[in-house]
Amino acid sequence: MGNLKFTIDDTCVKCGACAEDCPVQCITEGVTRFNIGKGCIGCGDCYSICPVGAVQMHKRETPKSNSQTSEC
Ligand code: SF4
Ligand code: SF4
Repeated sequence: MGNLKFTIDDTCVKCGACAEDCPVQCITEGVTRFNIGKGCIGCGDCYSICPVGAVQMHKRETPKSNSQTSEC
């Protein structure tokens, strides 16, 4: 949840620090890198802890209020 989305790129060295630190355990080990799965609460701990900067932070696009006025 939140406005931020986190992903792990190919520079991941599979140290496992992010998975250990994730408060909701949504990071799992993949074949070539770790992956962030469902359940991420956007706390940013993985982003802060990664020693090689493999965690990328993205702003979520929130498609809301597209000139939509809710009238009865
Ligand atoms: S942002 Fe927080 S909840 Fe989401 S994957 Fe990283 S450590 Fe886990
Ligand atoms: S902390 Fe960084 S390098 Fe370590 S497993 Fe997570 S993404 Fe990969």
